[in-house]
Amino acid sequence: MNIHEYQGKELLRKYGVSVPNGKVAFTVDEAVEAAQQLGTDVVVVKAQIHAGGRGKAGGVKVAKSLDDVRTYANELLGKTLVTHQTGPEGKEVKRLLIEAGCDIKKEYYVGLVVDRATSHVVLMASEEGGTEIEEVAAKTPEKIFKEYIDPVVGLTPFQARRIAFNINIPSELVNQAVKFMTGLYTVFIEKDCSIAEINPLVVTGDGKVMALDAKLNFDSNALYRHKDIVEYRDLEEEDAKEIEASKYDLSYVALDGNIGCMVNGAGLAMSTMDIIKFYGGEPANFLDVGGGATAEKVTEAFKIILSDPNVKGIFVNIFGGIMKCDVIATGVVEAAKQVGLTVPLVVRLEGTNVELGKKILRESGIDIVAAESMADGAQKIVELVN
Ligand code: ADP
Ligand code: MG
Repeated sequence: MNIHEYQGKELLRKYGVSVPNGKVAFTVDEAVEAAQQLGTDVVVVKAQIHAGGRGKAGGVKVAKSLDDVRTYANELLGKTLVTHQTGPEGKEVKRLLIEAGCDIKKEYYVGLVVDRATSHVVLMASEEGGTEIEEVAAKTPEKIFKEYIDPVVGLTPFQARRIAFNINIPSELVNQAVKFMTGLYTVFIEKDCSIAEINPLVVTGDGKVMALDAKLNFDSNALYRHKDIVEYRDLEEEDAKEIEASKYDLSYVALDGNIGCMVNGAGLAMSTMDIIKFYGGEPANFLDVGGGATAEKVTEAFKIILSDPNVKGIFVNIFGGIMKCDVIATGVVEAAKQVGLTVPLVVRLEGTNVELGKKILRESGIDIVAAESMADGAQKIVELVN
């Protein structure tokens, strides 16, 4: 799960990691009020979206007066920001972080991630802050330093110091940098993060080490033990169809194509997408209704697929193992009746209770194209959609 920068900073502050003073604002007036309260000469107005690359896209503005703050807040709120991380459709800005302007002397990169190859958390840092770490990795990999952290011992002061020296933190600030990294590591472990990235970490003119940006991601499987983190969830930043699917425990991922898929089992779902592509079509989603789905769950799944305006046809591909074909058929019929089916529907059923399932579909009065095999079904839906 992803959170906003201002939320990440709030959390970091609790762990003794220095961040600039700042406040979230949802309206222009709130932004001006927050700037007034900060009372600094320079205030930075920062768009809060679940994506990086805001600086380059015009989502981070330096304001030198309250009038500037008003102008920038007006400009950013409601704007769709397109950054290299949002995709071409961009993300609408609904919140701003109004933050004290910082006298930056130098920008660094510090990040913690889980390294699957070594099964360790790895601390990565570079003198080349501000730019994307992927770019540094591609062009000047020798400028990235890593420390693999023993899960039993944790991040040792020795490792943090070595990183600080390697990235050339001024020697009089090394102790501050060590405290910073230790705090960051503690948040990472205690809150079950999957990523904690500070880009940039800065050294300021008055000799402070601070986080100017904060990207924190959390392992969704651990959220049940972090009520405080769950409260940070911003559903408006997530795909509405995926949220709806998660309520019914359906594995759903929205994709760019126009053929909606309803399948049981992740493996079959993947091969269904594969065969649709093979016949020249593009799947609109990945959807696994699971092994023991009820008719209600199937109905909801079907509704979610139909709520996607890109969907120009639906392919239901079910292998009834534990899942019974008649249950799927009942769900499909129920959903089609409730929502009204406006696009072609191809159904391929095989397995437990297949005859009963086919009978339910046949007698439903709904316009359904029956398929004899997976390949037949994929071909049929691709033809109907084109
Ligand atoms: P993103 O990574 O999405 O572009 P950042 O928070 O890293 O957004 O901001 C981009 C750049 O804006 C930073 O590298 C920094 O130079 C500048 N910046 C961000 N916050 C402040 C601040 N409080 N004071 C001064 N400059 C800032
Ligand atoms: Mg950044």
